[in-house]
Amino acid sequence: MHIKDSFTYIEKPDGEKSMHAEEVPLALLANKIGTPLYVYSSLGLTERFNALKKVLPAALICFSIKSNSNISVIRTLSSLGSGADVVSGGELHRALHAGIEAKKIVFSGVGKTDEEMAAALNANIKQINVESVPELELLNKVALACNSVAPVAIRVNPDVDANTHNKISTGRKEDKFGVPYKEAIYLYSKIKKLEGLESVGIATHIGSQLMTLEPFSEAFRKLSSLANNLKNSGHNIQSIDFGGGLGVNYTGNAALNVSDYAKIVKTAADDSGCQIIIEPGRFISAPAGVLITRVLYIKRTEAKIFAIVDSAMNDFIRPSLYDAWHQVDPIYYHQKSSPLQTVDIVGPICESGDFIAKERDLPPLTTGDLLCIRDAGAYGASMSSTYNSRAPAGEVMVSGKEWDIIKIRQTIEELISQENFARWQK
Ligand SMILES: *Cc1c(COP(=O)(O)O)cnc(C)c1O
Repeated sequence: MHIKDSFTYIEKPDGEKSMHAEEVPLALLANKIGTPLYVYSSLGLTERFNALKKVLPAALICFSIKSNSNISVIRTLSSLGSGADVVSGGELHRALHAGIEAKKIVFSGVGKTDEEMAAALNANIKQINVESVPELELLNKVALACNSVAPVAIRVNPDVDANTHNKISTGRKEDKFGVPYKEAIYLYSKIKKLEGLESVGIATHIGSQLMTLEPFSEAFRKLSSLANNLKNSGHNIQSIDFGGGLGVNYTGNAALNVSDYAKIVKTAADDSGCQIIIEPGRFISAPAGVLITRVLYIKRTEAKIFAIVDSAMNDFIRPSLYDAWHQVDPIYYHQKSSPLQTVDIVGPICESGDFIAKERDLPPLTTGDLLCIRDAGAYGASMSSTYNSRAPAGEVMVSGKEWDIIKIRQTIEELISQENFARWQK
């Protein structure tokens, strides 16, 4: 299935091409609002959500809020019928605020606090994915105190290696996530004994940015056979939550095929007769967003040419943290420009780890040029920080010819407004 790219060059009569988000020139946004700037395409989010919906029409698709938690992004998806996978009380609040129905929200994560549990129970969400015995016990206590019965799915660790980056692999037995496959049955029998809990389903999530289907296939088969065993032992298992993790094509190589993914999911679910839940994040949001940055300086050393740009690891940490490779394109592109030069694109932060892209062949750059960092819609803005007292990039949503600012870049006064001198320093 081909999903259209929402960020494309449009050629002007003079032969110069300029990158657009749908029908809006990125240069216009950069000039009006300033850089660094995240730009999301409403159409891009829609097409990617619908591509999954098309191959899994009966599934509950719970968008992983941590991949992009801007409320406008969430609302775009909730208006298409998306649910949400949340991993904190903050994300739960955002999801509800942006209009996601509580009955379409699942709460994952290894470290839920009692406050977060109470918020989830009071909101009456679909299910809480529990990852350990002590968490199960605490949830029971909180549910009894809230006068409710918590809908529980146990997150099972199927001991499958997702063959992805170590920091985003979550389904091996040495990872901190989920309950070992063999202990799952014990947890379900515990649920039966505790009055504040009821079992509703079973869950897993084996990692992020998977580029092959085999690990999914192995994990899903294990999960569905466990679901069958549990059902046969009298446990209530209505749904299987297969988690997220579908990888995207950052480098231009073949991406994972969604139809084939859907087949694996459906086969596993059909074998168990359960409702399907999936929790995609990156697959939906990554290609639907770019980060625009401006060249500050060109610095030539004996070894290299550096383009020092105005976005940095605080805005976009994926290259530094995961050695992630993102395509970088000039926003203006002249057909007849000079030969390409090999440059490192780096940020202003005082760490050698602060880079956006290394050894890229680009048309010669100069101060003021605009660059577009692609596939930055997932784990970009949502992982940003204020390191170096830099306010994280602003955010814009585009839809057709329309655009609007969906996150204002804070001023330094706003940044420090949360801080105080200690009482004796005033
Ligand atoms: C992060 C996460 C996801 C989403 O992962 P993607 O790789 O972005 O699809 C889904 N479920 C859980 C529990 C997660 O922690």
